[in-house]
Amino acid sequence: MSSGEPSPKYIFITGGVISSVGKGITTASLGRLLQSRGLSVTVQKLDPYLNVDPGTMSPYQHGEVYVTDDGAETDLDLGHYERFLDQNLTAASSVTMGQISADVIERERRGDYLGGTIQTVPHVTDLVKERVRGLAQSAGVDVLIVEVGGTVGDIEGQAFLEAIRQMRYEEPRNGTLAIHVTPLFHLKATNELKTKPTQHSVRTLRSMGIQPDVIISRTDIPADHSITEKLALFCDVPAEAVMTLETASSIYQVPAILEQAGLTELTLERLGLDARPSQPGRSIDDWLEWTAALSQTDRVCRVAIVGKYVELRDAYLSVKEALIHAAAQRGASVDITWIQSDDLDDADQPEIAAALAEVDGVIVPGGFGERGIEGEVGVARFALEQDIPYLGLCRGMQNMVIAFARERLDLPDANTTEADEHTDAPVIALLDEQRELSQMGGTMRLGRYPCQLLPETRAWDLYQSEFAYERHRHRWEFNPRYRERFEHAGLLASGTSRDGQLVEIAEVCDHPFMLGSQFHPELKSRPERSHPLFLGFIDSVLAESETALRHPVGATNHTG
Ligand code: GLN
Repeated sequence: MSSGEPSPKYIFITGGVISSVGKGITTASLGRLLQSRGLSVTVQKLDPYLNVDPGTMSPYQHGEVYVTDDGAETDLDLGHYERFLDQNLTAASSVTMGQISADVIERERRGDYLGGTIQTVPHVTDLVKERVRGLAQSAGVDVLIVEVGGTVGDIEGQAFLEAIRQMRYEEPRNGTLAIHVTPLFHLKATNELKTKPTQHSVRTLRSMGIQPDVIISRTDIPADHSITEKLALFCDVPAEAVMTLETASSIYQVPAILEQAGLTELTLERLGLDARPSQPGRSIDDWLEWTAALSQTDRVCRVAIVGKYVELRDAYLSVKEALIHAAAQRGASVDITWIQSDDLDDADQPEIAAALAEVDGVIVPGGFGERGIEGEVGVARFALEQDIPYLGLCRGMQNMVIAFARERLDLPDANTTEADEHTDAPVIALLDEQRELSQMGGTMRLGRYPCQLLPETRAWDLYQSEFAYERHRHRWEFNPRYRERFEHAGLLASGTSRDGQLVEIAEVCDHPFMLGSQFHPELKSRPERSHPLFLGFIDSVLAESETALRHPVGATNHTG
């Protein structure tokens, strides 16, 4: 190790037995807790699958694809990290075995290995270590927390675990910490918590040369000392380093639970780190103050999320979190009704009225492919006509534009060319540059772009600034050929690209709140700093419910 700067510390977080035990939230929470002790922290996810990134995976396989400022398509855990740490991450925080494999093969083809035989150890593991150390160094942090995707024992994850084993050996004794997160099983028949799956999982981890320093056991019911003592004995971990994490009512309660369990102090002690005063707003009290707002439930925002992947809630994870943040900022909670868009149809407005009868606002989130579009357009048309607050996110903006064209521009066949390539009224279309790109294989507009806001619009009022910087993930765009017609009829481009050409935000002037963004504002919402567009939407949802001015439901039967 070089002299001078103290070398960064590494915390490795692995999971056992099953996925979805809260490894990502534990990782994000520990990051937030270390920040509260004045340490600089960043996070990296190692995903064992062979896709280069999750961008090409179905949301059913993978949940939401989270996009960073620099346009990386990443695992949804990066969303948790960004939200808990209030930090913008980059592509360097998302490493997949697909990327590592592609890199090894590229180096081999270039002749970098000078005729050697390429092997998992050392060639693949060296690249993994390079990526881990590279991020810690470039970010200049005190601590890098590395979460390994999947569970211990998965074939794909072995090279990552081997790289971690090597790093544990190469770094100073107090330079790394291994945390293993596993579930405790509750047997209903005997009302017992079983530790055996965790014991097996730790045994597997040890067989790969990694002895965990800390075990975090997720449980649905309280676990007493006999459980932690048993785990301590069988897994060779001191009892104070076996912590139970009871399922919380909100993920945002987890930092407080882990703090109370002693995780922060234990981490500092094992890594030989001294606490410092925290940055403004980053103390544990600041966090507790914010989470207290979550239990205020006297005001409720009833919101429908109408999308094509609603069976899998994780597909819209950031949308849900952004709603929670905005509602909390207004001392309210959110009650979400999930509605499958392909069960609905624009031609059947009474059915849409019935589906939306119990909500005070609608969000239509992102999505790809034709399925679901007609139902979503129908929902937008209903919100337009019935003055129901509507927020469209990417595809939700596109569908709002289509609905407006069908209803107000006398273009009954208006559509996106994503759904109907030969439509007479392609109000949403692939622009020429996009079409050329698609022939070359790279098509998406990805990552952060500036959005210029038009004065005296709702968007301007909400952002209170001339520019916003927002994240994109889409191919289709508002078709500029129709822009003037829309503006005459009362749908304004209130946000555009810097050159004014691309429509980034569209809003309906004569409506309580009907606004859509071509970007994904949900990716920039943070617990303590909710997003202006979500705040504007929540304000109008609360106004809608509180004036009790419910509009008669039913309405016209359009057959456009
Ligand atoms: N499918 C649409 C497009 O590619 C919308 C994408 C999205 O909602 N993220 O433009």
